[in-house]
Amino acid sequence: MICVGRIAKKAAAPIAWLLMPFAFLLTLQVRPALAASCTSKAPENIAIALDVGHTATNVGATSARGIGEYEFNIKLAQRVRDELLGAGFSSTFLMVTGQNGHAGLNQRAERANGMNADIFISIHHDSVRDKYLNPWLYEGGQHSFFDDSKGFSLHVSSRYEDSLGLARILADQLIASGLHFTTIHEQNNPAGARAPYLDSKRGIYRRDNLVVLKHTKMPAVLLEAGVIANRDEELVVSTPAYQGIIAASIVEAVKKFCNPREAPAAGAKLPKGFVYLADMEPAIRRDIRYAGSHNFMGRPVQGYLANECVLTEKAARALSQVQAALAAKNLSLMVWDCYRPARAVSEFIAWSRIQQDARMKAEFFPNTDKAQLFALGYLTSRSAHSRGSTVDLAIVPADLAAPPAYDPTAPPKPCTAGKAERFEDGTIDLGTGYDCLDPLASTASPHVTAEAASNRKLLQERMRRFGFKSYSREWWHFQFADEPFPERSFDFPIVARGSSLSMKQEAAPAFPGW
Ligand SMILES: [Zn+2]
Repeated sequence: MICVGRIAKKAAAPIAWLLMPFAFLLTLQVRPALAASCTSKAPENIAIALDVGHTATNVGATSARGIGEYEFNIKLAQRVRDELLGAGFSSTFLMVTGQNGHAGLNQRAERANGMNADIFISIHHDSVRDKYLNPWLYEGGQHSFFDDSKGFSLHVSSRYEDSLGLARILADQLIASGLHFTTIHEQNNPAGARAPYLDSKRGIYRRDNLVVLKHTKMPAVLLEAGVIANRDEELVVSTPAYQGIIAASIVEAVKKFCNPREAPAAGAKLPKGFVYLADMEPAIRRDIRYAGSHNFMGRPVQGYLANECVLTEKAARALSQVQAALAAKNLSLMVWDCYRPARAVSEFIAWSRIQQDARMKAEFFPNTDKAQLFALGYLTSRSAHSRGSTVDLAIVPADLAAPPAYDPTAPPKPCTAGKAERFEDGTIDLGTGYDCLDPLASTASPHVTAEAASNRKLLQERMRRFGFKSYSREWWHFQFADEPFPERSFDFPIVARGSSLSMKQEAAPAFPGW
């Protein structure tokens, strides 16, 4: 349920009546008819912010059996995320907020704006105002219910026409799947939000004052997926079947709304000479940073659709030899980046031109001016990674089960800080974090601890022994010397093994550079 601010609403009612004529004029004002930014983008480039309503400590409504709304919201949102990812919308982000109150609401909108989301969907479950709830005993406990309302509802601000467009498509999908919308929020019903309809045939209500709908700068829809105060519906909405209907409807709605340029096509195959590292050497850990948001841009990068390392067969075979040599010391490799689609390099360049977008600075380049990243050699207009035989990696203890998870809401820790103070990435101490765009990352930096220097030497030595060249500015970057495609760059997307996504190759000229 959305907080309706009961007390404030009552007190403000007479003023609202006075303002009515002006409010009417405002609605007549011509709003900028923004074209949906996702139109004609490839599915993997459509950024979808999935906002989990409420927080773990301020759970929202309470179900008829006493369960907090947040629990329903996060489970459904996870299912929706999984279905979107499965449908190729790999830039889908689950937004979990820890902060309560107005600050938390603003944070949701700011994060969606910060990531330039194309679509914002907030996931909620519904109830009614407290005084309409009826008491009952369930499993010996005193609980409250309201059985007179059930169904979904959609809430949008009239600020953007596109929000209503998206809500209409979504409502049609839900209705076509056999779901019904609730009328509880109609203006004349005191138990709900008393909101005007934007579309009374589809259960879409006008909510101009909800922060997440008002401050987001993209088509934004708040979905009340069902009424958990209803004793029957509470049980229904928790089922995988119901969650599946909602998730599938959202996937279909996004597809129809954006009409993506590249429809997924069958028959994914790597270009000749390339392999998945996991097929050749499954023990090497993978934390492909550009496939997620823990990187210097703070968002997934174009062409990275899966946490997979793709390399030329030659480079992958050499890496498996390095892995075997390290295993003797109870150590393992962990790769952060392997083959890099040329389109990703273009995105780095585009990003570098926008000086204002430096929200990851505190972690990845705390001491470096963003304008200098090219001049200093951290960014290049062409990358050796696109030739398929260059890899960014580190050493981890052999018993590391999985790369540590990244929490985008946690305060940033500078990559230049000591091992215990920077992000715990699972590696042995190599002096800095990954993609630390700083002199401290220079392979021979005299300013790292003796332990880090010795670990860097170990990595260099093992990689060189099996045919890789190191890079003076970045201790993690290695290029296979005998690379099979020294003159050729590639631009196929990185998809999950066994995926049916298209891997269309685009021609690119030869180039030098890291
Ligand atoms: Zn590199």
